[in-house]
Amino acid sequence: IKINLNIDKKQIVVKEDKIIIAGPCAIESYEQLLETAKFVKSKGANVLRGGAFKPRTSPKSFQGLKEEGLEILKAVKKETNMPIITELMDARDLEKLYEVSDIIQIGSRNMQNFTLLTEVGKQDKPVMLKRGISATIGEWIGAAEYIAIEGNHKIIMCERGIRTYNDYTRNTLDLAAVPIIKKETNLPVIVDPSHATGVRYLVKPMSIASFACGSDGIMVEVHPDPENALSDGIQSLHFDEFEDLMNSI
Ligand code: PEP
Ligand code: MN
Repeated sequence: IKINLNIDKKQIVVKEDKIIIAGPCAIESYEQLLETAKFVKSKGANVLRGGAFKPRTSPKSFQGLKEEGLEILKAVKKETNMPIITELMDARDLEKLYEVSDIIQIGSRNMQNFTLLTEVGKQDKPVMLKRGISATIGEWIGAAEYIAIEGNHKIIMCERGIRTYNDYTRNTLDLAAVPIIKKETNLPVIVDPSHATGVRYLVKPMSIASFACGSDGIMVEVHPDPENALSDGIQSLHFDEFEDLMNSI
């Protein structure tokens, strides 16, 4: 499916530089985020991630620190000077999230939340659009169009794995999506090997593979103590593993 987004190349956020987004799945405390931010920055990460509003499978799981998480992001941003990306789940939180987040993340579960896409389309900040859990490439590009049509062309596509018959890994990383998005659109595209695989030992090889096929960047989960993380500990890198990853890419 060829969809012409008609986006002026000059408006694209990521051009020459690789974007390395790193940080915990969820913000758990000021100390946890600050320690992680300082470490990943010292190893070359250029954007800090951390979820304040978490889309969890079970309502009984940790849902994120919400407003308190945004306050922590603000404080850590001030302390480290790192640009921030965090997920917007509900348009009613847009104003407070906009204040702190330099890139607005639309999560996989909301890829086709068209009212949410329309709202972020009216903003002037970059939006990172994660591929839906079972989305085709055409549906994913269509979702990007919902944002672009409102005037916001600063869209970063993020391949984060899709659901297939393979149940060995959390999702199946569809690396062919990277050159396909490059061919079909003129948007930057990055890969999230953490959610795509769900296991930390696959994050490094899949990051290397992502760059090999032309990715503009990666987003990886890093935690000071993954064994005790409140979400996604199994796929989160220890600090030494993040350092090793940065050395290899
Ligand atoms: C995330 O990156 O925080 C996340 C929840 O990922 P996804 O939307 O891809 O599941
Ligand atoms: Mn996560």
